[in-house]
Amino acid sequence: MRLILLGPPGAGKGTQSARLREKYNIPQLATGDMLRAAVKAGTPVGLKAKAIMDAGGLVSDDIVVGIVADRIEEADAHNGFILDGFPRTVKQAEALTEMLHQKQMDLDAVIELVVDENALLSRIEKRAQETIAAGGTVRADDNPETFKNRLETYRAQTAPVSSYYRGVEVLKTVDGMAEIDDVTAAIENILQVKV
Ligand code: ADP
Repeated sequence: MRLILLGPPGAGKGTQSARLREKYNIPQLATGDMLRAAVKAGTPVGLKAKAIMDAGGLVSDDIVVGIVADRIEEADAHNGFILDGFPRTVKQAEALTEMLHQKQMDLDAVIELVVDENALLSRIEKRAQETIAAGGTVRADDNPETFKNRLETYRAQTAPVSSYYRGVEVLKTVDGMAEIDDVTAAIENILQVKV
C-alpha cells in the first residue's frame, strides 16, 4: 500500500497516518518529523532547515527529495508507506513520480483531507496545549504568527500539488472536519476499493 495524504497544516494527516500505519503495517514517512529529528541532532540538513521551519517556510526541494529517496530505500518501506507532508510542492511531486517510476512502484491512492481553514488555527493551539499538559515541548512553529505563514506557504506552494495529482492520478477527497474515527473510516473505504 503506497499512499499520499494531502492537506493543510492541522488537517489531521499525522493522526490519520498513525492509525493507517498500525492497520497496514507500513511506515509513516513524515518529512516534518524527519526534518525535526535532523534539527535536533544538529546534522548539516538540520542546520540548514531550522530557520526556514521556524519561519513557516519550506525547506529546499533538493534536500527533502533526497531525504525521501533515501528513506523509501529502507527495508521497512518495501511493502509500502504513507507519505505525510510530502510532496509539498509540484516539483517534489514530479520528483516522486520519477522516483517511483524508476523503482517500478505505483501509488495506490492520493487522498486529500479537506478542512475549513478557520478551524486550523484552533486545532494547532489545542495541540500546543495538549503537548504542554503532557509535559512535552511545543513545536517552534506551532504558534499563531508562524501558523499564518505556514498557511500562506500551503496556499501558494502546496495547494497546487492537489491539482497535479488530479491530472496524473485519481485524487480522492475526504471530509477532514468529521470526527477522527469517521475520517479514518472514510479513508479505509477508499483503500478497500483499491486492495
Ligand atoms: P504541518 O503540521 O504544518 O503539516 P510538518 O510537521 O509536516 O508540518 O512540517 C513542519 C515544517 O517542516 C514545514 O513547515 C516545513 O518548513 C518543513 N517541511 C516538512 N515537509 C516538507 C517538505 N516536503 N518540503 C519542504 N519543507 C518541508
